[in-house]
Amino acid sequence: MDPRIVALQKRACARGVIGLAGGLPATELMPRDDLARALAEAATHHAVALTYDWPEGVEPLRVWIANRLSARGARVDPQQVIVTSGAQQALSLIAMAHRGERIAVGDATYPAAIAAFERAGVEVVAHSADAHYLMPGVSNPRGIDLVEPRRAWWLGREALIADEAYTELRFDGRIERPLVADAPTRVWHVGTLSKTLSPGLRVGWLVPPRSEHQALLDLKEAADLQTASVTQQASSLFLARFDYDAHVARSRLHYRERAARLCEALRRELPYARFAEPEGGFAVWVELDEPGDEIGLLHEAIAAGVTIDPGRAFRPRDAASTISFRASFSSAAIDELAEGAHRLALTVERWLTRGARAMRRRS
Ligand code: PMP
Repeated sequence: MDPRIVALQKRACARGVIGLAGGLPATELMPRDDLARALAEAATHHAVALTYDWPEGVEPLRVWIANRLSARGARVDPQQVIVTSGAQQALSLIAMAHRGERIAVGDATYPAAIAAFERAGVEVVAHSADAHYLMPGVSNPRGIDLVEPRRAWWLGREALIADEAYTELRFDGRIERPLVADAPTRVWHVGTLSKTLSPGLRVGWLVPPRSEHQALLDLKEAADLQTASVTQQASSLFLARFDYDAHVARSRLHYRERAARLCEALRRELPYARFAEPEGGFAVWVELDEPGDEIGLLHEAIAAGVTIDPGRAFRPRDAASTISFRASFSSAAIDELAEGAHRLALTVERWLTRGARAMRRRS
């Protein structure tokens, strides 16, 4: 991430502005007591929770992951699953396995995926490459499904990195057959508990193509030996007792209500902005017609008392674009969303006025 953006966001947090940046899950949804009990139980009664384990991760958790994929039509054996430190580590390991290749990400994607790919020596492009990075069901930052309408196309071609971070958080509850069910030799399946449960657990997973499994396990071991035993053990204890599906269903309703609130306010306050109504996830992707510097826009936003994620972080180098930003509805208080949109409208007006003044000075 651009260090200027990080510095501005950190300053904004400290000043208590309305936070439409970050794409964080709602802390009020997290089953805090149940998770605390599982963590305490893991540490107290399960010796494995406090010591080293194998790089692939604890078996009951891998069984839970494989069973969920199997219930959706994929034949995944628990032995194919590698538990990772969040989906982020899965992306880093996949990137290492694709060093020197080109991965297409579309014209806007999850910024830390771009970072993971590039740091590992992958060339990140918008279109046409050796592999494609996709988010089935719900894309970040657009919040819409860019995969299902082109499913047949995806299934006929190159390697696919299917990041299901938000797949279960479509507001309509539709969860498609995982791509790994139909193209197991080409799909690198990625999942996580971060969006539905808690990112603090750092529990994600990777199902690589069978032929790549040992190489990925070696990369995982070289990276960090294994994912934290205590959160893996606690997660499997927790998932064995907790009604995860009911929790995800509640979460969908929670985010759907907030998405509707923010979109309604954006339509009222920024009628000239373009955005697709999100179908799931945490955020809206907003585009304006003007070209310009989005870091300047973030400065202006913080001065107006709101933060957003500037669009430049989401774009591969070769993607052209006008001003865009991601506004998240997931973690701000619901009553702050309309005020947040109002402050965004002030931000854009001030920023456009400054731009017009600068143009006049130049001409
Ligand atoms: N993929 C996507 C699309 C994401 O938005 C995120 C988190 N912002 C991740 C992966 C990483 O999630 P984690 O490492 O917390 O599992």
